[in-house]
Formats: sequence, structure tokens, C-alpha cells
Amino acid sequence: MFDNTKVAFEDKTDKDLNRAYFLFKAISNPFISKTLTVFVKIAIFFRFPISGLIKATVYKHFCGGTTIENSQETIDKLWEAHIGTILDFSAEGKENEEDFNRAMNETIASIKKAKTESSIPFSVFKPTGLAKFSLLEKISNNSELSEGEKFGQDTFESRIENICKTAADNKVPLFIDAEESWIQNAIDDITIRMMKKFNQKEAWIFNTLQLYRNDRVKHLEELLITAREENFFIGLKLVRGAYHEQEIERAKEEGYDCPVHLRKEDTDSDYNQALTLCIENIDIVSVCAGTHNEESSALLVELLEKHNISKDDKRVYFSQLLGMSDHISYNAAKKGFNVVKYVPYGPVKDVLPYLVRRAKENTSIAGQMSRELSNIIQEKQRRKS
Ligand SMILES: Cc1cc2nc3c(=O)[nH]c(=O)nc-3n(C[C@H](O)[C@H](O)[C@H](O)COP(=O)(O)OP(=O)(O)OC[C@H]3O[C@@H](n4cnc5c(N)ncnc54)[C@H](O)[C@@H]3O)c2cc1C
Repeated sequence: MFDNTKVAFEDKTDKDLNRAYFLFKAISNPFISKTLTVFVKIAIFFRFPISGLIKATVYKHFCGGTTIENSQETIDKLWEAHIGTILDFSAEGKENEEDFNRAMNETIASIKKAKTESSIPFSVFKPTGLAKFSLLEKISNNSELSEGEKFGQDTFESRIENICKTAADNKVPLFIDAEESWIQNAIDDITIRMMKKFNQKEAWIFNTLQLYRNDRVKHLEELLITAREENFFIGLKLVRGAYHEQEIERAKEEGYDCPVHLRKEDTDSDYNQALTLCIENIDIVSVCAGTHNEESSALLVELLEKHNISKDDKRVYFSQLLGMSDHISYNAAKKGFNVVKYVPYGPVKDVLPYLVRRAKENTSIAGQMSRELSNIIQEKQRRKS
């Protein structure tokens, strides 16, 4: 279904392909990947001038540019293959009000840009870009808040409402990313409130469900009931989840029941069950399958056929990250499905936590070659022959 590497890499020159090969070869080696990550952290701490090196390598592969404007080339290139862009301002780990306001303004700017360009069908933001992590943790576990913290909560929620209102007013669907489980209640609560408020006629506000969590299918079932009772539309981005290791470690350290599945097949099964539930309830759900997994992507194709939903129905999207699983993105787009890619952008040092997650995700486990690397090798061999 997605294995045509000629289609997958048609806009990559041999030079691009070679760069990607060396990059994935390096990060797929656990020793090299770990050493490079530590080296980068130390270099940033001591302010060594390594931005240029990062920018020419891992950043160039996974990011669009340092600003919205200089991500345009990436947006246009993807759009030539009928792949949309989601501009993702990826500055992470910020802890002051000035940065939170900047992140809000960036998101609003990206919504306004999306309004004018059909190549940008969605906008997105990360809630930890808008408030202190420690505050979201306190809200999530119902801790008593000081007066200052209550003010912080109000400011966080009004930033989110401001972004959601801009999205709904401009008719640009908006994804709200999911993060660590111990801050997620705060995010879910406000997001569901925003869905009720702005998704009255169609889904503009999308929450994210991480299906590695062992309670998310139940959460989805409950949300479906609430939406039918209270007459609003649900927008959902389904992902497996990016913080698996941290979730397990924290649960162990603090001695509570682990909130994530421990067996990959349980995550896969919940992901596919959630996808099926979304399509079975397509009259009130818009869904984006944010995954690099071929089986889940193939399942979505099957579900669309089974329920007679057209390939380009605006309620259903396939989505991958820039620089990952191009075989799914390009082959699905070529077949006429709706596809969109996250295009992270931002200053090099702010995007580092995102890049480290991508490196980790592509580090091989038990000597297995990563999916990305094996696709690149296959395409290099095809071009040679
Ligand atoms: C468009 C898009 C948006 C995204 N947005 C978010 C977001 O908002 N929040 C977020 O957290 N992530 C987000 N991600 C990242 C996403 O969670 C990871 O890319 C994803 O987990 C990788 O899984 P996969 O679906 O591609 O499939 P696979 O590569 O098949 O699965 C890998 C995933 O399975 C899970 N897993 C691995 N081992 C085990 C195990 N032993 N037991 C149980 N589960 C296991 C982990 O979640 C791991 O990441 C997004 C990804 C995309 C493509």
C-alpha cells in the first residue's frame, strides 16, 4: 500500500537521500545517538557555536526553518506532492510569561497564515508553551493553588481561548498536542470546554489522544456519549505517544500504577480500536491519524472503504512528521487521500528537545534497522539499478 519508494522520495535529490542515510545511520546506533545527545547538551550549556552544524544536518531534515517565512520553501515543496503543512512552533521548555505570550502570538500568526493558504489545512500548539509545567501539574492533580497560581491558571486558559477563538473565527482547524500524563488533565479539561464552545457546527478544535495510555479508549467512549448528549462535534488527533519511557520511570519512582501500556501490541490494539470508533462515529467526529505505523494507516484506508467515506473527505486526515515516513505520506497523497505533515520551526536551540525525541524514536531497538533507514537504503538501491 505505501511501499513505493520512488514515490516516497521523488522530491529528494541523491544528495538529500545521502544526507538522510547518514543521519538515520548515525542516530539508529544507540551508542552514537546517546553520545551525540549528551555532546549537544554540553555544547549548548557551554555556548559552543554548534548551531550551524545542527542546522545543516538533523535540523535540515526534520524542520522547516527558524521562522514561518523561511519555512515557505518546505511548505511549497510538500504541496507540489499534494501534502499539506501544519506549522508547528517547536520552542520547548520555556518558563516565563514573555515566552508564553510569544508562543501564543506565533500560534495566532500561524492560524492567520493558514487561513490564506490551502497548503496549510491545520494549525497546532503545545500547551506547555503557554504555561509553567509545574502549574499544569498542580492543576492536573487538583492541588490547592495560591492566588498567584490561580491567576496563572486564568492566564493559561485565556491564552488557549484566544487561540481557539481565532481558529474558529478564521475556520482553521486547530490541534492541541498531548503531553505527559501528569499534566494532561489540565489540558483535556480546557480542550473539551473549547470543543463544546467552538465545535457547535463542525470540528475546529481537536484534542490529541495518546493510545499508549491504558485509559484512552474509555475516555474516547465517554467523550462520544457526552458529545451526543450535549450536541457538539469532536475533533481528534490520534497518536501512540511520545513519552513512553518517562511515563514508566515516573510511575516506578513515585509508586503509582503505570498509566501506559507495557506491551507494544496493547498500544497498537488501542490505537486501531480508537481509529475504528472514530470512523464509526464519523457523523460527529473529525479524525487525524498521526502515525508512522503502516498497519494503522492501512487500517484507516480499509475503514474508509468499508464505510463508503470518500478519500478526500475533509473529516479524515493522515499525518506524519516532516522527515519521517515519507513512504506513507507521499504514497497516500498520490492515491488521493488527505495528508498533512507537521513542519516544526523555531530557533535551533529551542527546537532541540523535539530533535532529541526524533533521535530517540529512530534509535534501533535490539539491533533492528529503523523503518526510515531501510526505506532509504531500498530507494538508494533502486536508483542505482
Ligand atoms: C502528526 C503527528 C502528531 C503527533 N502529536 C503528538 C502529540 O501531540 N503528543 C505525543 O505524545 N506524541 C505526538 N506524536 C508523536 C507520536 O506519539 C510518535 O511519533 C509515535 O508514538 C510513534 O508511533 P507510531 O504511531 O508512529 O507507531 P510505531 O512506531 O509503531 O509505535 C511506536 C510507539 O509505540 C509505543 N510503544 C513502543 N514500545 C511500547 C511498549 N513496549 N509498550 C507499549 N507501547 C509502546 C510508543 O508510543 C512508541 O512511540 C505525533 C506524531 C505525529 C506523526
